[in-house]
Amino acid sequence: MIEGSCLCGSVRWRFAGGVESATICNCTACRRYGALWAYDWEPGLISIVGETRVFQRRADSPLGFHFCPQCGCIAFWRGTGPDEAGRIRIAVNLRLAEPEAVGQIVLDIFDGLQTFEDLPRDGRCISDVWA
Ligand SMILES: [Zn+2]
Repeated sequence: MIEGSCLCGSVRWRFAGGVESATICNCTACRRYGALWAYDWEPGLISIVGETRVFQRRADSPLGFHFCPQCGCIAFWRGTGPDEAGRIRIAVNLRLAEPEAVGQIVLDIFDGLQTFEDLPRDGRCISDVWA
């Protein structure tokens, strides 16, 4: 299990299971937020506590970024609607976890800016981009 908390502590998430990889992405949003994402579906392994505000780039955006209204940390994103199976995609920001809990998680590198495809893993893990 891994837990994350925003800076002020009012928004918290819990990932009730092992996190196999963390996605680092260069898209216009992720590179600004500096987030590292761990994905699941709802209902699933992720639970959220605390009130958030949501930023959607457009009214028809497929996802919204949830942040703490007090301290501004990006805590997670959530799909704005279900898929064909009725599930909602969600991803928590592993930057909100303690370093020792997530440091050894391998990075998946996603080129969200241009090709929208995964790039080959290069062996880095979260601790390599933490400092
Ligand atoms: Zn906060």
